[in-house]
Amino acid sequence: MTKDNRNDTQRPSHVENDEPQDPSRRDLLKGAGAGAGAVAAGAVGLGASQADAHPGEGPLGENLKNPYGGRPAGGISLPEYFRPTKYMTGSNANYFPLSEQLGPDEMRISFCGSTPCPPREDQAGTCIMVGLGNGKRFFFDFGSGCVRNIVGMQVPGQLINDIFISHLHVDHYADIPYIYPFRAWSGGYTPLRIHGPSGRTPELGTQGMVNGMKQMLKWHLEAYDLLPIGDGYEIEVNEFDFRQEGGIVYDEDGVVVRSWPRSHAKDGAVGYRLDWNGLNFVWSGDGRPEELSRKYG
Ligand SMILES: [Zn+2]
Repeated sequence: MTKDNRNDTQRPSHVENDEPQDPSRRDLLKGAGAGAGAVAAGAVGLGASQADAHPGEGPLGENLKNPYGGRPAGGISLPEYFRPTKYMTGSNANYFPLSEQLGPDEMRISFCGSTPCPPREDQAGTCIMVGLGNGKRFFFDFGSGCVRNIVGMQVPGQLINDIFISHLHVDHYADIPYIYPFRAWSGGYTPLRIHGPSGRTPELGTQGMVNGMKQMLKWHLEAYDLLPIGDGYEIEVNEFDFRQEGGIVYDEDGVVVRSWPRSHAKDGAVGYRLDWNGLNFVWSGDGRPEELSRKYG
């Protein structure tokens, strides 16, 4: 990705797993700031000229004949009605699940949702999945419909864990009551870990939300209790003081996550910054512009 591929009309640029890993990709993200880099890349994709990708041809099999037509990414065959839209060819902004291996020193940031309301077929509730080259994976907010997109990224439900909630507006955690029991049911036999801020009073904090959620789900949980679930119904809540400025809320395997208070609606909104291996990801959640987000971002 050292050259500008925006006008590359010869082939889909996402077919890059045939090529040696270009170390400059990581430097690009590192220099731009990972979050901003992801957003900027999306903007470039929308502005890209439409490319005739000749999807039936390519470095992996000019002679293969697929009755459904083209091959939009290396090794993936899809019926015509699932082909990429015209905006999805010739752009480095596109990622097809399992088509590009994450380098051991890289971070992948996937927007699995980005709307408060309403969730739609092409835009779920807010959720950002952060994958690291060391195999760890984190979720920042967990809005309505995000599970569908996470699974669509080939991450099965039982591997969803370590959810960081920026604040307790329901558009930021609506899919947790869903994934919590079905994660256990589908083989997630370990406790679900939820990280989130305190509130002005205990019942307004993350632990209070989880307590209420368990009560809400009581009928469902009991009905499914005959199935093997291991410790999947356990929830480890890491509630931290929403007022701390830059305090560490997570520190394992070289991954450090800090939080700071955000000005948004009510006491108990925070922003997050994840640091790992010289890269960082910042998630401000909702709120007004303020100095702390500028400082930690
Ligand atoms: Zn909000």
